[in-house]
Amino acid sequence: MDLLQWKQQLDRWFNDRLPEMITLLQEMVNRDSSSHDGDSVNALGEWLMERMRGYGFDTVKLPKPAVPEDEPWRANLGNVFSAYSHQPGAGIILSGHIDTVFPTGTTSRWRFAVDGDTAIGPGVADMKGGVVLNIFAARALKELGLLSFPLTLTFSCDEELGSVSSMEALKAYVLNGWADLNTEPARDAASVIGRAKGSGHLRLRVEGKGAHSSMDYAAGASAIIEIAEKTLEINKLIDLDREIVVNTGLISGGTSAGTVAPFADSALHMSFPLTADGPALLQKIRDIVARPGVPGTTCTLSGNVRLPPLEDTAQNRELFGLVQAAGACVGLPLEAAYARWASEAGFFSSTLGLPAVCGLGPVGGGFHSEDEYLIVSSMIPRCMTLALAALQAARVFGPGES
Ligand SMILES: [Zn+2]
Repeated sequence: MDLLQWKQQLDRWFNDRLPEMITLLQEMVNRDSSSHDGDSVNALGEWLMERMRGYGFDTVKLPKPAVPEDEPWRANLGNVFSAYSHQPGAGIILSGHIDTVFPTGTTSRWRFAVDGDTAIGPGVADMKGGVVLNIFAARALKELGLLSFPLTLTFSCDEELGSVSSMEALKAYVLNGWADLNTEPARDAASVIGRAKGSGHLRLRVEGKGAHSSMDYAAGASAIIEIAEKTLEINKLIDLDREIVVNTGLISGGTSAGTVAPFADSALHMSFPLTADGPALLQKIRDIVARPGVPGTTCTLSGNVRLPPLEDTAQNRELFGLVQAAGACVGLPLEAAYARWASEAGFFSSTLGLPAVCGLGPVGGGFHSEDEYLIVSSMIPRCMTLALAALQAARVFGPGES
């Protein structure tokens, strides 16, 4: 069968499907799923897997990777879920995440709503809309009898924290994958993401010594002065011409204005365009942290490079060519954009070695903010593009003719 014949079948299947897609989106958006609240993420995951079983897919809840001693907060993360047609972790991977940046409780005051062509709600575009596309593309292919190849959907639990736990779980799971199509949102109707930055998350903890600041300043060791000096040094590593950024985005410390600060903490985010940039940047940060600073203070750096970048490789370009042909068939002229943020497509490409394309999700904007929105009319054309791209990718990247 060729693209056009597939497209005609999909046209019929998707004909009056939009209300059903919006209902699923609404049900997902109105459930909290903060990355930091693993219980809520898992509740959403279990609920979705029940739906996937109803659609005829097998499902699995992947085991949680061990929690490292220096990152105890990872104990609060959820599990990765997956639904598959043939074998677990095999074939064409439709990847996405079900966590959002919005804290638990957000959905009690901010509900899903549709006004004209715009849907709003926490995580509506990043990326519950994309997850809806993955589910409906999988359903369409299955119900039309087009799944002669294995299809696997993955639902990550902590992408907004750099997929630290999800990547470990997926590395052991996606052992027979052929290609990855990721439905992170698109910024405009004409784009998918062919290239994206890598990321890293770090925490700096400084221990000092508390003392009465006016009576006994010399007996103390200020963790705040130390973290301030280290932060300014680390800041010098920013190289905007090379798109290398390390941002100290959170800082806290001390106990009172009249006390020499006994502790201080900061949270840092790294981003970089090439795989090799991540470890090099991290080493420079480690060197700065290891240098002696305010006497009597000690610094501890935890965290690591997380998601690697999605680089411009020959196989990624080849997969993008298939996506572009699928889009053209649906009437969507698509270009491969460069995203200045990280996504799991970088992991599938740079770590697992699969061809990957990102940004296949619905068009949206205002991500991570209360201005977040999704363009409803972009859902079906992009979902059909996704399904057609999966069919073609199975043909090109699978082991034999399908
Ligand atoms: Zn996202």
